Amino acid sequence: MDKCSGYYNAAEIFGENVFNDSVMQERLPKKVYQRLKEIIRGGKELDLATADVIAHEMKEWAIEKGATHYTHWFQPLTGVTAEKHDAFITAPMENGKVLMSFSGKELIKGEPDASSFPSGGLRATFEARGYTAWDCTSPAFVRQDAAGATLCIPTAFCSYTGEALDQKTPLLRSMEAVNEQAMRLIRLFGNKTSRKVTASVGPEQEYFIVDREKYLKRKDLIFTGRTLFGAMPPKGQEMDDHYFGTIRERIAAYMRDVNVELWRLGVSAKTQHNEVAPAQHELAPIYASANVAVDHNQLVMETLKKVAGRHGLQCLLHEKPFAGVNGSGKHNNWSITTDDGINLLDPGVTPHENFQFLLVLTCILKAVDIHADLLREAAADVGNDHRLGANEAPPAIISVYLGEQLEDVIKQLISTGEATHSISGSKLETGVKTLPDFMKDATDRNRTSPFAFTGNKFEFRMIGSQDSIAQANIVLNTIVAEAFSEACDVLENSSDFEQALHDLIKKNATDHRRIVFNGNGYSEEWVEEALRRGLPNITSMVDAIPSLNTEKSVRLFEKFGVFTRAELNSRVEVEYETYAKKINIEARSMIDIAGKQIIPSVIKYTTVLANSVAAVQSVCDADISVQQGLLSEVSALLAETKSALSKLEKLAGQGIVMEEGREQAVFYRDKVMSAMAELRSPVDKLEMIVDKDMWPMPSYGDLIFEV
Ligand code: ADP
Ligand code: MG
Repeated sequence: MDKCSGYYNAAEIFGENVFNDSVMQERLPKKVYQRLKEIIRGGKELDLATADVIAHEMKEWAIEKGATHYTHWFQPLTGVTAEKHDAFITAPMENGKVLMSFSGKELIKGEPDASSFPSGGLRATFEARGYTAWDCTSPAFVRQDAAGATLCIPTAFCSYTGEALDQKTPLLRSMEAVNEQAMRLIRLFGNKTSRKVTASVGPEQEYFIVDREKYLKRKDLIFTGRTLFGAMPPKGQEMDDHYFGTIRERIAAYMRDVNVELWRLGVSAKTQHNEVAPAQHELAPIYASANVAVDHNQLVMETLKKVAGRHGLQCLLHEKPFAGVNGSGKHNNWSITTDDGINLLDPGVTPHENFQFLLVLTCILKAVDIHADLLREAAADVGNDHRLGANEAPPAIISVYLGEQLEDVIKQLISTGEATHSISGSKLETGVKTLPDFMKDATDRNRTSPFAFTGNKFEFRMIGSQDSIAQANIVLNTIVAEAFSEACDVLENSSDFEQALHDLIKKNATDHRRIVFNGNGYSEEWVEEALRRGLPNITSMVDAIPSLNTEKSVRLFEKFGVFTRAELNSRVEVEYETYAKKINIEARSMIDIAGKQIIPSVIKYTTVLANSVAAVQSVCDADISVQQGLLSEVSALLAETKSALSKLEKLAGQGIVMEEGREQAVFYRDKVMSAMAELRSPVDKLEMIVDKDMWPMPSYGDLIFEV
C-alpha cells in the first residue's frame, strides 16, 4: 500500500491473510499438500499425521501474521458466526517460558459447550457436548482487529450424537448430493472426463448506512436493528436519484476500507453501488463454491458492520430498517459447474438443440414447482416478513422467470413435443454513429421475479439481507439433486435413450409449466393468477415454517442424507422460538421507548403548549383556536398512545409466559404485532406535530438523508 495516499493494489493484497492454495503449496511438504488436495476433492479421509503437519505450518504462518490465538469459526443457528479463542501457548515449562503449539487434533476437532446454542431439543442438557470439525474445503484465515490477530478455522458444528447444529453441515451434505446426481446425469450424456460438479454461488448483499451518532440516539435500532417508530420524511425514494447515483465521499471512503479488508481475507468484493433507497447500498463478490460463498457472505456482513464503526457510521443489515422505504435483500446467484469448467446452466447459442441443458432446466422447473414451499421457507426470517409479499421486493409467491428465449423453447416443447428454433438476440442500435452497435442478449432482465434465469445461472432473490444464505442453498442443491436423480432413474433404465430423454423433457416442462411466469411479479393480478394456478402464497414466516418437516420434506432430505427427521423437527422448533423471541424484543423495545422517551416528551410539549395558551389568554383575548385545536389533537393522540401502550404491555406479558412453539409464535404475530402497529400509529402522527427540538430521537429524514 502507498500509505500516504491510501491507494491499494488489489492484486497485491488479495488473499494475504488466507491460508490458501498457494500458501499451502509453498509451505507444505509435497506429499502432504497432494494428500490434502485429494481430501478437499473428496477422495480421501484426513489422518492425524497429515493434520499434524498442516496444523504446524498453519500455526507458523499465522504467527508470522501476528496471530496469538486460533479459533474454530462456525455457524450455529443463531444467524451469526461463533468463535471461542484459544492462545497458541503451551503450559509454562520449568524455565517459566511457554512454547507456541497447535496440533493436528486441535485443528480438526474442537469441543465447545453446545448448551447455549439453539438446538431445538436435539441436544438434551445432559449431553451438552458439541463438536466442531475442520472444513478443509473453506480456507483458514487470519483476522486482524482490536483483539489482535486470530487464526480462524472454518468448521462444522454437530451434537455429541452427530446431528447438525449449524448451517455448514447440511450445506456440505447437500453439495455432495447435487454433485453425485449431477455426475450421474452428465455421464448419461457421454461426459467421461469431469470428476466433480460444484454448486457455485454469488450473493449480492444490500445494506443501509447511517450516521453512528444518530444511530446511538435510536434505541429501536440498537435493540432490534429496525426503526419501530418513525414518520416518513417529505422526500422518499420517489425521485429515483439514489440508485446508481454518485457515491458520496464519506461512503466511498468506507467502501474502500471494506474492500481492502475483504480482499485481504480472500473475499473477491467486486461490485458496489448505491441502491434504490436513500442510504442504501450493495456489495457483490465474484461467485465461489457454495460453501465458500456462505462463509464469505458471513465475513462480508461482519466486515460491513465492523468497518462502519471506524468511519463513525453504522451498517444496518435488517431487511426493513425503515417502514415505507425499500428494504434490503440478498440475491443468491446459483449455478452448477463441473471441475473442468462446464456450467450445466449454460444454454449455448441454440438452447433448443442443447438437450442436456433442456433436461437440467426442466428438472429445475420441476424441483422449484414441487418444493416451492421449501424455497419460500429458506427465505423466511423475522425481518423478511416486512418485505416478502409486501408492496415491493419479491412477492412471497415462488415462480420462475425464464426470459423470452427459453420460454419460447419451453412453449414449443409443450405444444409440439419438439423445439425447432431459438429466438436470437438482435443488434442493439442507438442511432448514434459514434456509439458502438452490439449484439444484445436474446432475453431481457426481469427484476420482479423471485427466481430468475439470468444467462447461465438462476438468481434467487427472496433471501433477507441479514439472513445466512446457507439454507437457501441447502434447499436448492437438494431439490435439484432429487429432480436429477429421478430423471436418471428413468433414463438409465430406458432402452431408447433419445426417445426417453425427449419424453422426459416434454413431461417435465408440461407438468410444471405453472411455475413459469414472465410478467410483473409485484402486481395484484399475479397474486390472483398464482392462486388460480395453485401456487402457494405464504405471506409470513410463521406459516412458512411447517413446510420444513412435512412428510414430503422429510422424504426429500432423508433420501439425500441432508437432514434427518429429528434435525428437521429441531429446526422447526428453533425457528418458532427465534420468531417469538425477536418479536418479544421488538415489543419490549417499543414499550421502553414509548414509556420513557416519547410520552414524557409529548407531555413536555403539551405543557409548553398549554402554558402558551394560558399566557396568551391572560393578556388579551386574541384568537387562540389554532393552539387550542393543536392541544386537543395532541392530547387525544397522547391518550391513544397510552392506551395502546398498556395493551401492548399486557399482550407482551402474556406472550412471554407461553410455552415455546407454534402457538406462541402465532400469538406474537397475530396479537403482539398488531398491538405494536396500534402503538406506532399515534406516535408517528405525534412526531409530525411535536416540535422537532422536543422529539426524543432523530427522524427518518435525519437518518437517511444526512449520512
Ligand atoms: P446483477 O446485479 O446484474 O444481477 P451483479 O454483477 O451485480 O449482477 O451480480 C451478479 C452476481 O452473480 C455476482 O456475484 C457474480 O459473481 C455472480 N455470478 C456470475 N456468474 C455466475 C455463475 N455462473 N454462477 C453463480 N454466480 C454467478
Ligand atoms: Mg442481480
